[in-house]
Amino acid sequence: MKRIDELREAIDRVDDQLVMSLAERRKLIHKILEEKAGDKSLRSIRREQELLARLITEGKKAGLDAHFVTRVFHEVIDDSLRAQELELLQEPNGPANASIRVAYQGIEGAYSQLAAQKFFSKELDRTELVGYPVFDDAVQAVKEKKVNYAVLPIENTTAGSINQVYDLLSRVSLAIVGEEVLRVDHCLLGLKEVPLLTIRRVLSHPQALSQCSRFLARLENCQSESFSDTAAAVRKVKEDQNLSQAAIASEDAGRKHGLKVLERNLADQRENYTRFLVIAQDPIQVDQRIPCKTSLVMATSHEEGALLRALNSLHLHKLNMTKLESRPRAGMPFQYLFYVDFEGNLIDGNVQQAMEELRGETMFLRILGSYPMQARPRTAPPPASYVTAARQSKTPSDRPAAAIASYKLASRGSRSRDTTIDVRGVSIGGPDFVVIAGPCAVESREQILSCARQVREVGAHILRGGCFKPRTSPYSFQGLGYEGLELLVEAGQEYDLPIITEVLSPSDIKAVAEVSDILQIGARNMQNFALLKAAGQSSRPVMLKRGMMAKIDEFLHAAEYILAQGNQQVILCERGIRTFETSTRNTLDLGAIPILKRLTHLPIVVDPSHAAGQRELVTPLALAAHAVGPHGMMVEIHPKPENALSDGPQALEFPDFIELMETIYGS
Ligand code: PEP
Ligand code: MN
Repeated sequence: MKRIDELREAIDRVDDQLVMSLAERRKLIHKILEEKAGDKSLRSIRREQELLARLITEGKKAGLDAHFVTRVFHEVIDDSLRAQELELLQEPNGPANASIRVAYQGIEGAYSQLAAQKFFSKELDRTELVGYPVFDDAVQAVKEKKVNYAVLPIENTTAGSINQVYDLLSRVSLAIVGEEVLRVDHCLLGLKEVPLLTIRRVLSHPQALSQCSRFLARLENCQSESFSDTAAAVRKVKEDQNLSQAAIASEDAGRKHGLKVLERNLADQRENYTRFLVIAQDPIQVDQRIPCKTSLVMATSHEEGALLRALNSLHLHKLNMTKLESRPRAGMPFQYLFYVDFEGNLIDGNVQQAMEELRGETMFLRILGSYPMQARPRTAPPPASYVTAARQSKTPSDRPAAAIASYKLASRGSRSRDTTIDVRGVSIGGPDFVVIAGPCAVESREQILSCARQVREVGAHILRGGCFKPRTSPYSFQGLGYEGLELLVEAGQEYDLPIITEVLSPSDIKAVAEVSDILQIGARNMQNFALLKAAGQSSRPVMLKRGMMAKIDEFLHAAEYILAQGNQQVILCERGIRTFETSTRNTLDLGAIPILKRLTHLPIVVDPSHAAGQRELVTPLALAAHAVGPHGMMVEIHPKPENALSDGPQALEFPDFIELMETIYGS
């Protein structure tokens, strides 16, 4: 036998063992469920964190990346939770072998059908999916017991709520028994692979057309035409046999109707999801240990404070609201129905009490049902080789409230609590110390991916990378611009890290804000008022760096420019100021951090790299800065600082970065 065949056989044996081990793990999970009978929740975040930390340490000893171990075990943990949830779910579909009929709107290949398939994937062999031309018919079929369920889209993350379905929910008295979230990947589908220039007509559902508006604008001499659903558009293209026509739909719809994919990923926003509701005649009861959502529809009286009092009944019972939608009331001009989703289960006494109180505050209340929540947030292991809990930043509870200053929105006097900013699950401004790291500039795919991997491996939280660089000399490397931004986005996605990048011009803000989780405004632009105002109109968090010659008062007034435009998500960054001292690039003003914490509720981050200018000073300055209690820090790292195109001398090499993280989190 050839050596390669032997090796392949050995790999097969390892894979078999992996599968057997996973099956064994599942069995243990089922046994554990019996032991957990008295528990309130299936999940213990603490236990998940400990498990990940232990496996990462073991994995490291055996030469595996922390990121790889985390990814694999996120899947394994997900599977365990799903398996436990399924076991606890009462059998809503009647006897185990009875067939399940499910209505959806559209024809074979419509997104709703894909969502239904996904929701009923465990029982697909006894599930029959039935397409109806319009939503009303699908719902009617449930009412008339022609089907057991209907699966209807309720909201899309790009295009918003599906109003028709909201209105239906109030009209018919059916129950919500489940939800499903589907990633929507729009493709352009044609009869044959022809150049895009030859396409003259694109057919699709109006929602899909609106989600792909930017792609469509690029197609010259091409018209869009609305269809009742995406799959019907596909069928029409197939029937017409006209090469100049194409449809926008899922790849699956293309396959079912025999069309070719001409282009993928058409949606304006890469992250494009639709949430579907599963509707049935009767509500279900969900085991208390399964994370649940409850939906209701209500109307309040037309008097001051009525909606506030209604929502307060949720707040008083600590129920977290996940959605609030208002729709006009049929036949009652300028009156509204409110649709509310919150995390909670109707069999819970606390939720029942909240509903009692809510009834007393509303003119109309219908509870639509409790159902298992789809999105299960994943537990991140603790940072820096996942050592014990991070040192906590000091809270300002004992601080006297400052008088309202002329930077009134930034001032403590304007807000009772510290501002915390959530960037994809990373909270900045709360008790946890957040680390932002990455190269000064994005230089190449390999460079940014290698930095991202390192940031992830060491448990840092956010990836930085300049794409538009504010250089002193016009002849220095100016950054890769939008090309660099694409690479930064890719690296962030690959390693599941939020990203931050600098904007230099108001005209770039919109495009950068579409993909970057945080916008950075650099020291040289701290008083670029046009830029500050434009950033204030964006809904993305902004990290504002202190100008080299800016007093704290000027710094806060600059932040005020952003806040005054509406954007309340500002992070301040102390990065050193210019003094008479030239032995460092700038003088890190550590005193500014506690002073800022006293004056403002905004999160404060420190950047030792641009203060130091030399790598040897970065670690001591970072540790000193950490001691004065900022909410986080930003450091520059580079796989090969000697080759860096900007700020190489101050970039930490990876081993130094790892050591810094271990010192901060290990103590
Ligand atoms: C940077 O963060 O890369 C940068 C240019 O920083 P600063 O604006 O603080 O000089
Ligand atoms: Mn830099």
